[in-house]
Amino acid sequence: MARYTGADCRLCRREGVKLFLKGERCTSGKCAIEKRNSVPGVHGASRRKPSEYNLQLREKQKVKRLYGLLEKQFRTYYDKALSMKGIVGENMLSLLERRLDNVVFRMGIGASRAESRQIVNHGHISVNGKRVDIPSFLVSVNDVIEIKENKKQLEQFKELKEIKVVLPKWLDFNPKTLSGKILTLPERDDVDLNIKEHLIVELYSK
Ligand code: SF4
Repeated sequence: MARYTGADCRLCRREGVKLFLKGERCTSGKCAIEKRNSVPGVHGASRRKPSEYNLQLREKQKVKRLYGLLEKQFRTYYDKALSMKGIVGENMLSLLERRLDNVVFRMGIGASRAESRQIVNHGHISVNGKRVDIPSFLVSVNDVIEIKENKKQLEQFKELKEIKVVLPKWLDFNPKTLSGKILTLPERDDVDLNIKEHLIVELYSK
């Protein structure tokens, strides 16, 4: 599967917001946005007022990069959201939040979504007792997400027992047993990010 392999901080600087793509570094003084919040490239940001299209495009790029997706993958979430009951933008965010790599990140198992994706890819995670190595796997209510029994002793997971994570209310995670549960499906209020999803809907509706 193709994926972006450039500098993560460059993406944050392009969108002008912290996308938290690099784990601990993002909350440290080393964060590139904290040090130099300017658009990358020799020309930098345009001084012109952004057009409506530009605002919509930037919002879409921001969310796409936040979840680490390519255009085609991102578009499938919009298409799926469109076919669901309810508000399209909110459906889309709920679907994105339900990705297994995002759940692993939200539970604090991975320091970033990229690291969480790798953890899933490497087969360290089980859902309802079965190994799942597909980062885009969509979790459902009552699913039990767990670090596989034979992987719990890995060095990278040992320190999780000491880490305190603020969990969104739709998730439960016990750092002692390294297992968690999906309590409800995520709703708009559970997505604690400054996202204007209506702009993305407007862009794709053209
Ligand atoms: Fe973005 Fe994290 Fe880099 Fe800061 S350190 S610019 S939040 S990826």
